[in-house]
Amino acid sequence: MAETKTAAYICKGCELGARLDTAALAKAATKSGKMNLVREHDFLCSAAGVAMIQNDIDNEGVTHAALCACSRRAKTDAFNFTSIAMSRGNLREGVIWIRPDTDAARETTQEMAEDYVRMACAEVKAMQVPQGNPNTGTVKTLLVVGGGMSGMTSALEAAKAGYKVVLVEKTGELGGWAAKLYRRVPTREPFKAPEDTGVADLVSRIEADANIKVYLNATVAKTDGAPGRFKVEIAVESGAVANEDIGAIIQATGFTLYDANKLPELGYGQSPNVVDQAGLEAMARQAAASGKPICRPSDGQPVNKVVFVQCAGQRDATAKHLQYCSGFCCNTSIKQAMYFKDNNPDIDTVVLFTDLRTPGNGEDFYRSAQNKGVIFSKGVVSSVSAAGNACSVKFKDLILNEEVDTQADLVVLATGMVPTSGPDLDQLAEANRVAEGGDEGAKQQVVELMSKSVLNLTYRQGPDVPQFKHGFNDSHFICFPYETRRTAMYTAGPVRRPMDIAQAQEDATGAAMKAIQAMENAGLGKAAHPRAGDLSFPTVRLEGCTQ
Ligand code: SF4
Ligand code: SF4
Repeated sequence: MAETKTAAYICKGCELGARLDTAALAKAATKSGKMNLVREHDFLCSAAGVAMIQNDIDNEGVTHAALCACSRRAKTDAFNFTSIAMSRGNLREGVIWIRPDTDAARETTQEMAEDYVRMACAEVKAMQVPQGNPNTGTVKTLLVVGGGMSGMTSALEAAKAGYKVVLVEKTGELGGWAAKLYRRVPTREPFKAPEDTGVADLVSRIEADANIKVYLNATVAKTDGAPGRFKVEIAVESGAVANEDIGAIIQATGFTLYDANKLPELGYGQSPNVVDQAGLEAMARQAAASGKPICRPSDGQPVNKVVFVQCAGQRDATAKHLQYCSGFCCNTSIKQAMYFKDNNPDIDTVVLFTDLRTPGNGEDFYRSAQNKGVIFSKGVVSSVSAAGNACSVKFKDLILNEEVDTQADLVVLATGMVPTSGPDLDQLAEANRVAEGGDEGAKQQVVELMSKSVLNLTYRQGPDVPQFKHGFNDSHFICFPYETRRTAMYTAGPVRRPMDIAQAQEDATGAAMKAIQAMENAGLGKAAHPRAGDLSFPTVRLEGCTQ
């Protein structure tokens, strides 16, 4: 084992020299800290200061250094000495910045600084020289699970940055929810009319990209390993299994619409003239393909009046249905009202809402709909019932404060997003616990929950990334977007929180950048967060926190 040689460096910059007796600090490092070598410097993080330390490492054999200057979070790029053990004595932020600059306080400030120097010396003597991390994983291929707009965007962004991508989609085609749309909410100036979905363009770019390998009709059967060295088994349609070496994972498995059959009071399932937003998109696509206007499903006659019921089974304070706002469905109803108005301005289109949520440029889209004659009425719908080929919609008008009954040829329910996030791990753990006692019902529940698994991780903590609020996969909606509570696994798009297509694509780009960071850091034996660069932390499995 190499001989240990300790050194302490006292910085005089940033007013440390003016506020403190640095010669006394050097003495404390020598006498109490028992450092073999002690130096003062006017500006330790300058090129000259860094060169002085490097020279001591190269020519004086220094193996342990206590840098008594500023916070360990500051100047990490300058003090990047990876071959030695290093501690930081925080004399700047920890002492002179928090102590009064008065004659009365000078003595105690000096005593405090000397204590900080002693602590830095004691700390570095207890440290070991970093040995490097034997657990590095060097695979730089990204796995993207889900081939919708989020998944395709993540794949393209990572490929654009030069990384190989394996894209797994469980259905037979790429595009997800967006591929089922007739048009999307506008993303470009002047934000006044529905736009092409852009799915075909993304699919053709994916198909033309040599960095992206696509598995259709495929699922992830097993995920084993750690960041930079995952072993993934992909079950393909033929029943065979493909093996892929993977560096990081993005789960972009999207959402399904809330089951409108749970809303019989709103007429769904009782009349073909009551549809959800997905149903209307299918009708619009069919109508466009046949060159005819959208017709009433019950008898194929023209639609003269459409009512859109917002927040159907959403923002439900009783917790019987979804308790949250899905964020996308106000703009979707506005877009769908335009399908009718753009085709025939005489068709009555009424949007019944309690709050209309059209953030950002959605306001321009909303105004455009008003200019086209779409009626927005503030009201709470209590029931929808079928009467022949028409529907009767009862609602409380919140402006007039009176009950109103209106007739419509077609009613569209704005139901919300339910994330495709795999099984709830807490529920699965409980079912497993009961099943171990031999309970047949619990065993069946385990089978059902496992059938929803997306990643099929072999981790002790469970087969998928944990869910946060309302079943969405995330660590924290605001502070740690894309991150899950599993290292090198990220979520993008509506599987992590409700969002529209534009937000999902931005999200997917961010997740791709995070995944690239994780793969690169895994190759260096570092975690993506938060301890990368912290040489005082033990090196054991820095690149992964779980397995
Ligand atoms: S930033 Fe830190 S190392 Fe640089 S002069 Fe100031 S206290 Fe010294
Ligand atoms: S986006 Fe609009 S319709 Fe959808 S839940 Fe929120 S407020 Fe209701």
